[in-house]
Amino acid sequence: MLGQMMDRPLLLPQIMEHAARNYRDQEIVSLTPEGAIHRYTYVDALKRIKQLSNVLTRMGIKKGDRVATIAWNTHRHFEIYYATAAIGAVCHTINPLLGPEQVAYVANHAEDKAMFFDTTFAPLVAPIADYIPSIETYVAMTDDAHLPEFSKPGLAAYETLMAAESQEFEFPEFDERTACGLCYTSGTTGNPKGVLFSHRSNYLHALTANQSNVMGTGEDGVLLAVVPMFHVNAWGVPYSIPMSGGKLVFPGPRLDGEGLYNIIEQEQCTASLGVPTIWLGLINYMKENNKKFSSLQYSCVGGSAMSEYILRTFQEDYGVEMYQGWGMTEMSPLGTVNRRSRNFDQLSEDEQIAVQLKQGRAVSGVDMRIVGADGAVLPNDGMSSGHLQVRGPWIISEYYKYDGETLTADGWFDTGDVATIDEDGYMHITDRAKDVIKSGGEWVSSIDIENAALSHPGVARAGVIGVYHEKWQERPLLVVVREPGTEATEAEIIDFLKGRLAKIALPNAVEFIDEMPLGATGKILKTKLREMFKDYRLSA
Ligand code: AMP
Repeated sequence: MLGQMMDRPLLLPQIMEHAARNYRDQEIVSLTPEGAIHRYTYVDALKRIKQLSNVLTRMGIKKGDRVATIAWNTHRHFEIYYATAAIGAVCHTINPLLGPEQVAYVANHAEDKAMFFDTTFAPLVAPIADYIPSIETYVAMTDDAHLPEFSKPGLAAYETLMAAESQEFEFPEFDERTACGLCYTSGTTGNPKGVLFSHRSNYLHALTANQSNVMGTGEDGVLLAVVPMFHVNAWGVPYSIPMSGGKLVFPGPRLDGEGLYNIIEQEQCTASLGVPTIWLGLINYMKENNKKFSSLQYSCVGGSAMSEYILRTFQEDYGVEMYQGWGMTEMSPLGTVNRRSRNFDQLSEDEQIAVQLKQGRAVSGVDMRIVGADGAVLPNDGMSSGHLQVRGPWIISEYYKYDGETLTADGWFDTGDVATIDEDGYMHITDRAKDVIKSGGEWVSSIDIENAALSHPGVARAGVIGVYHEKWQERPLLVVVREPGTEATEAEIIDFLKGRLAKIALPNAVEFIDEMPLGATGKILKTKLREMFKDYRLSA
């Protein structure tokens, strides 16, 4: 027998309608790339979302079309999130750190029909515009006065397009499984892969994020959204915060310690979220300038493991609870959070720190298991370490336009992380099976570095692994076996790679060994390499 409750679709514009009705004077504050602070209420934001829905419709954007953004966290980016969703289109958020070739690759793979970009990124967009034939319209997210130089015809200023449209728009209803967002991840080998979110998955994700033991801030909360909107929907806060009536603060391009500190104090932010590198920058600024927080209560740290230094400094020196979150693009991204448990206060200080350095417990809606090399499910005993697999309603079922398998035969998604889970449900990442390196929250392909290094005549074999770095958490170390009879040096090899790799991918160091550890099929045994260099430390 089926239940007899209404089957109303969960659609994202409903969130903003709810916010405008119930928290009408609550604010969204943004630092714009032009430098000015922009401030408006949820009521005004909803009006502008309707106006932008009219702009998109006039541009010829239809249901299912992909609309690219290359943009900072601002109110305009927020409006694009909602207006694309409102008309059933898909907001394809592009990571500007990808570099021109990969930006063109993802835009072509997605067959984007329009591209919205912040003026800061005009130098990235202009040279590749000729190589993305599907794009019909480019929109600079600014006004006429700040329009960048751009050779492509049809460039328009966001504010000019908006001014020409009405603020009346009736949001249509459609299937809640309709796609609304697309984000490519380089966290796997090969080309970046597309993760296609739906209204339903983002809505459910936001409901869970709002639980008080997840990331819920409530109506009194003032959330500084540091994590980029081009990186998994800024971990969902553009949906979860308006849902619960909190104030949203967007820092725009100011992600440096001073910029973050100033906006936290000026807007009296109570909560924030971002990758560890961001928090290190903030700590450094505060220490150098002898600053304290007057409003910040807690911050979520994710994207890479949180260090004990960050944890202790924030908690002990600044009185801010730091809690870890783990997830990934394929999970929208929320998988686990590490909020204080009921028994936390009974633990000794060292035990508390040890618990907090784990990635945390699964949020409701996410199932996790660990699996051994033979495919057997391992016990949650805190000791057995295996491949971490997940499933849930906001977890990917298939990569966008991808021929390979996305899930295991029995329907789980393998995260590529290696972890333990203990009896209390705490997951702890112990290693990474995927062969990519995460530097300050951004992926670096080890294969690209290896291929580039192998074109040096003195390099017989090249293996790249991520090693600990003080500022970036992880940076590439290139391990080389020299071609017999040659004497290539570290400086020579790095110099050689400079023209061939993006700056973020340049290895920080080169180490030479006599023999590369190889597996049965002749592939480099990265586990062995990681073991050999496990104590390697790179300083900032
Ligand atoms: P992304 O898809 O770019 O968000 O990256 C997801 C990956 O980042 C995960 O599979 C982990 O390898 C890593 N990651 C995310 N959060 C954490 C965390 N709290 N601790 C350690 N690694 C993390």
